Amino acid sequence: MSTIEWSGSRGVSEYPEVADERFPAFLYAYGDRYDVDVSTVGETITRQKPILYVTMEIYDKAGLDIKGGGGLGVLAGDTRRVAEDLGAPLVVVTPFYPIESHQELTHFFQVERHEAAHPDKLYRRLGGVAVRTTIDSEVPLDIYGRTLGSTRVIAVTEPHFGELYPGSNSGDHRLYQEMALGFAGYEAVRNEGLEPAFIQLNEAPTVFAAIAMLDDLCTQGMTFDEAFGTVKKKLLYTNHTLVQAVEGEFNKGQFEHMIRPNIANPEVWEWVESLFSDGDGGERLRLSLLAIELAGVKSGVSELHARVSSTNFHDAKGEAVHFEAVTNGISDKWIMRDAVELYEEMGVRDEYGLPTREYEERLEGLPIDRVRTIRMAGRREMNRILATRQDQYGNPVFIPESATAMDFKRRFAEYKRPDMIFSDPQRLAALLEQHDMHFLLTGKPHPNDEGMKRELTRLLYMIDSHNTLRERVHYVQDYDEDIGRALSVGADIAVNVPRVGEEACGTSFMKDMANFKVLVSTLDGGVADADPATCLIVEDGNAQSLYENIEKAARIVADDDALRTQLIRQLQAYAPVISGARMLGDYMKLFASQTNQR
Ligand SMILES: *Cc1c(COP(=O)(O)O)cnc(C)c1O
Repeated sequence: MSTIEWSGSRGVSEYPEVADERFPAFLYAYGDRYDVDVSTVGETITRQKPILYVTMEIYDKAGLDIKGGGGLGVLAGDTRRVAEDLGAPLVVVTPFYPIESHQELTHFFQVERHEAAHPDKLYRRLGGVAVRTTIDSEVPLDIYGRTLGSTRVIAVTEPHFGELYPGSNSGDHRLYQEMALGFAGYEAVRNEGLEPAFIQLNEAPTVFAAIAMLDDLCTQGMTFDEAFGTVKKKLLYTNHTLVQAVEGEFNKGQFEHMIRPNIANPEVWEWVESLFSDGDGGERLRLSLLAIELAGVKSGVSELHARVSSTNFHDAKGEAVHFEAVTNGISDKWIMRDAVELYEEMGVRDEYGLPTREYEERLEGLPIDRVRTIRMAGRREMNRILATRQDQYGNPVFIPESATAMDFKRRFAEYKRPDMIFSDPQRLAALLEQHDMHFLLTGKPHPNDEGMKRELTRLLYMIDSHNTLRERVHYVQDYDEDIGRALSVGADIAVNVPRVGEEACGTSFMKDMANFKVLVSTLDGGVADADPATCLIVEDGNAQSLYENIEKAARIVADDDALRTQLIRQLQAYAPVISGARMLGDYMKLFASQTNQR
């Protein structure tokens, strides 16, 4: 790779002074709260030596004008927001996709609508960087930048960069996007005079940033072994996948064409080449193997997910890999401001967003009248947003304040079982009528998932054919962050029923709990972190159990004492899980363990 031209961000003076003190103070509070010493990372991480967070997807339309596809992007967006709140120097390296995808329905069938997106609105162009392929000696990429408090975003793009997750996981265009992000993104970071103290790879396809660093250190004069050891100590690989086999993998020809021309040092290429193994149609390589071999620490995104990954993933020698658990958390953008204030007033969370030592006792004093007031305001906010959106008939949605609202909001993926609640339409209809309840359903099938697109159509026709369901089931089109937040603050009951063992973490349930909703869920992902779990637990795959728990939830929501008791129990078990500050601190603990070992 090479730099074409560079005007840069003209220094990093946009950082407010306060950021410098807040981060060490947070690290002290976290260390004190969890009895660990993370002070070494506070000395290592500075404005010039930030944490580099590399991700193929970031989802934060309001903050960054970038729309993602799902949970992995939402997590990246929240990680940056939490870092900004805590004054942590963090640089996100991400693509800016010039095409944004939206969902529309025609005759209840999903069609994708594409919109052009341009970084000019919020970003400043920093310069141009080129990557190479065997055919093109230079593929020019535009680098855009933006500073938000102690954080920065460096975005890699070009007019033909394409959309997020196009085609197959193993296709040429995907590898191009991944190598462009890694090689050009790393070059841009260096052009800005930054030397990453630590690098977090948000999933394996970002591994080329680490390979670019390895290559750069060799070019600067380190031996391969020194460079490899240096990268290893700085690198954290965060995995979101459960089974190594479902990942994309690339063949030797693709690597020869797109990766090799960007590596300057023959030893680095030889190392990459040594990891290929025979598969169908010749030698192949999974990017997770590169990430596993190169990263000193690996993590999964919930306790259960880390355990499952530790048995499912193997290194180059075929040995099991250990994944630490850092359960996802959420940023405050998902929580009603009045709820955050109430938690602080009650002494449930501290000024950094960490649960206090005495949060469990403090929750016992939860004032139900305040909760009801906050929920009422949340309902109005939800209705305000739903007034601008469309249901399956193209109409805006309005849920009266007197009615109970239940939601299911997540990608329309098979393992999340959006169909489970419809397995007995009569039973669902009876529940909705008896409890004056409305069901808000939202979520898009993946554009390539023909099976789930047909399933969505089938469900919408079924709902249409049933008088009660037609009135009380609202499919909100084009699920996005605004709808996610609206339902989190304005509905009363949330349904989350992934097939146990298949949800990496899930964060929607956290948004629900933080806003005083009653959760009905299978014990999977981050929900399984708490022991004992205190939501209304659905037996895996048992629709009967789902209906019984919905009934229970509807009764709880209608009764002040029962609601108060249930919310206290939920938050006593999950307040630490939900906390984005806790998540950031946990990551700092992993980095500290790297710097402390020799
Ligand atoms: C919160 C959120 C997600 C993540 O949802 P999970 O399925 O619970 O991980 C995905 N998409 C949007 C738009 C969200 O707001």
